[in-house]
Amino acid sequence: LVSRENHPARSVVRVAGVPIGPGTMTLIAGPCAVETPRQTLAAARMAQQAGASLLRGGAYKPRTSPYAFQGLGEDGLRILADVRETTGMPVVTEVVSAHDVSLVTEYADMLQVGTRNMQNFALLQAVGDCGKPVMLKRGMNATIEEWLMAAEYIAQRGNLDIVLCERGIRTFETATRNTLDVSAVPVAQGLTHLPVIIDPSHSGGQRELVLPLSRAAMAADADGLIIDVHPTPEEALCDGPQALVADDLAELGRAVREFPPLL
Ligand code: PEP
Repeated sequence: LVSRENHPARSVVRVAGVPIGPGTMTLIAGPCAVETPRQTLAAARMAQQAGASLLRGGAYKPRTSPYAFQGLGEDGLRILADVRETTGMPVVTEVVSAHDVSLVTEYADMLQVGTRNMQNFALLQAVGDCGKPVMLKRGMNATIEEWLMAAEYIAQRGNLDIVLCERGIRTFETATRNTLDVSAVPVAQGLTHLPVIIDPSHSGGQRELVLPLSRAAMAADADGLIIDVHPTPEEALCDGPQALVADDLAELGRAVREFPPLL
């Protein structure tokens, strides 16, 4: 269902009317985790000013350590919905369990499946039934073939509004959090009609790498970028070192606007 063999034209996925697909460089930005109404609104304003058309923010956080901040749950979803009301930005948010899919679907415009859940088949089937677009991150240890098969689980349930997100894979390199596999963009775009975007924040894990990795994503003709931002990263409850502040994000927004189309 997701193969380009049977569907040669590349697809455009619309998230509350915002297109992601060939010819777009859709900017999605927002806080890694929803912490407070004020922090989320400030991050959304930063995102909007830089040209982002979708707001990201995690209410359910899949943390490596069980002692780390796990997210605000439904309170976080309510904050995201309020910020959408104020800013008009549609919301992309992660769901970590099949049990939460119906609740998250009530609030989200797009549901995100994170790297750690790429092969959580019950979750994939549940988001396949949810009726909203899905962003499927590549498992940090998954091949492109496995990633596409995970997308197939969603598509099999009748949901073809799937955006793939390359977010870095595990390699022997320790200088970055994960290694951004830029080649995944043209390889996946050759194999599937689904849009492919890049997350330079979670792959590099460092603020300084976000702009260069975003430029690499643009040069590889990715269909969009998803970026962590925070008004005060030093106070962030999750992934502060990779969050952009307003000036960095404005520079990234300019780079996106000025990047010459490849056609
Ligand atoms: C995220 O985008 O908030 C996230 C946790 O990303 P990943 O699943 O890529 O680690």
